[in-house]
Amino acid sequence: MINLVLFGPPGAGKGTQAKKLVDNYHLVHLSTGDIFRYNIKHQTELGAIAKSYMDDGNLVPDDVTIKMLETEVNKHPDAKGFIFDGFPRTENQAKALDHFLESKDMDITLMLSLQVPDDELTERLQKRAETDGRADDADSEIIANRIAVYKRETEPVAEYYRAQDKFEAIRGTGPIDEVGNRLRAAIDKYL
Ligand code: ADP
Repeated sequence: MINLVLFGPPGAGKGTQAKKLVDNYHLVHLSTGDIFRYNIKHQTELGAIAKSYMDDGNLVPDDVTIKMLETEVNKHPDAKGFIFDGFPRTENQAKALDHFLESKDMDITLMLSLQVPDDELTERLQKRAETDGRADDADSEIIANRIAVYKRETEPVAEYYRAQDKFEAIRGTGPIDEVGNRLRAAIDKYL
């Protein structure tokens, strides 16, 4: 079983690359951002909670996010492995994930961290606002808050995996296919 954490700031290309990795390694892709957006679209109770945080570019509280993630993992008992995209985003979530996976005799194989300079991130998110219509991409103050929240709460999560020797930094700039090649090369070293 391979369980990957795809990591990086907003706009790093996690969603794009996760879709390619799913095809290559036959994994289940769980994007917490996508699951929240699905719930918002379908006007669920979870969606209403998530929206109140996402609209400002803040994190949805850990207890809500962790519970949702565990429910999603449990929906796929026969999975060959998972790609966690946008999770864990706090050290608390990382610890909860380890604990949960351990209870199922699973563990994280590797965290892949996509590295992209700040100015390119902002540029990519502004461009995405024009094509995807995500409310949290349309406002430069919300984008700045998401990047600040990332630096403050999420970036330290990398250390958590580095300490376990499960961390690879990958350059996230250049053509999409080349980034994909770099990710696959890093994963294949661990298989
Ligand atoms: P991006 O990586 O571009 O910010 P995502 O789709 O991953 O986009 O996330 C969008 C928003 O969803 C985040 O700004 C946050 O409000 C919420 N979110 C997603 N994943 C998590 C998580 N693991 N914990 C808390 N909030 C989350």
